[in-house]
Amino acid sequence: MDTLKERLRQKNMRMTPQRLAVLEYIYVSKTHPSAQDIYQALLPKFNTLSLATIYNNLNALIELGYVIEMTYGDAATRYDYKEDDDVHYHAICETCGYIIDFSLEELDNLSEMLKEKYKFITHSQRLEAFGQCYDCQSRTRKEKEMYD
Ligand SMILES: [Zn+2]
Ligand SMILES: [Zn+2]
Repeated sequence: MDTLKERLRQKNMRMTPQRLAVLEYIYVSKTHPSAQDIYQALLPKFNTLSLATIYNNLNALIELGYVIEMTYGDAATRYDYKEDDDVHYHAICETCGYIIDFSLEELDNLSEMLKEKYKFITHSQRLEAFGQCYDCQSRTRKEKEMYD
């Protein structure tokens, strides 16, 4: 939380209370919420809130570089806080939608390698692993046992 406030102060960012609340929710919850999740969570705080306002704020935050959009085919778009320095990647469970944040040291040098080898300038990089989380694996195993 402190780092978020600090970062906004450094950039001299002024935000409406709603926009700040949207950003804070994404930052604190760490659940990669959908617009609907954010709307439900903030509704008790702002009774004039609408889903359209959430989308407007999310788009503004994406443009400002604080939030990234994660789209997965038919599933609802999820939103994540964009770190300045600490880059992380995602492993997504296709069964329950759970998202694991992870970092990998080897990937930290990716942009340097691309620059050196291909004179390529990297703006952003994303890596996503799709599969099944541990909880879902054991659930599937148990269901199998029941029917076998
Ligand atoms: Zn799962
Ligand atoms: Zn994440």
